[in-house]
Amino acid sequence: MAVRSQEQDDALGDVVVPEDELQDRVKAIGKEITADYEGRAPLLVGVLKGAFMFMSDLARAIDLPVEFDFMAVSSYGSATRTSGVVRIIKDLDIDLEGRDVIIVEDIVDSGLTLAYLRRNLEHRNPASLEVCALLLKDGLQKSDPDIRYVGFHLPADFVVGYGLDVGEKYRNLPSLVRYVGS
Ligand code: 5GP
Repeated sequence: MAVRSQEQDDALGDVVVPEDELQDRVKAIGKEITADYEGRAPLLVGVLKGAFMFMSDLARAIDLPVEFDFMAVSSYGSATRTSGVVRIIKDLDIDLEGRDVIIVEDIVDSGLTLAYLRRNLEHRNPASLEVCALLLKDGLQKSDPDIRYVGFHLPADFVVGYGLDVGEKYRNLPSLVRYVGS
């Protein structure tokens, strides 16, 4: 069976954030982090898989000797909703003790995944712990998610592209696109 190009895919709706706007915003956040962490070497903790593309662009926009580590988590729930019950699939390799840690997240929806990660990493005694989320869905969090760096505020629609998937598809789209289903 032939595979259709993503441009012809009916499950994809309109572009929510085009590639150039994503790239400009990521560069601006990189500058902010460079200024805020002057004289320090922050450790970027990327949350796989969704944040991999954002993390890669963000790291190149930071003019400091950053280090990387990754965590993979899986949240129980349906394909497009999380239940807040999070399981660590891949843990960090680097010790967080005394480090300036920045959690790099793709998207914060209910905020349950992030709340879990923050609690988990705080127990490892970092010198500081901040969050950088590319996308924040407005009004869906039960408590203030306390995110230091936010790329874009979005309405409650489900989006794909720039690392974000549905069933492992669409991560390679360079823009952020609304997913309307088939
Ligand atoms: P939360 O725990 O904040 O409700 O959900 C966070 C996780 O749900 C994200 O890391 C991401 O994996 C997934 N998620 C939430 N909203 C979206 C969305 O609009 N698109 C995609 N592809 N994943 C989402």
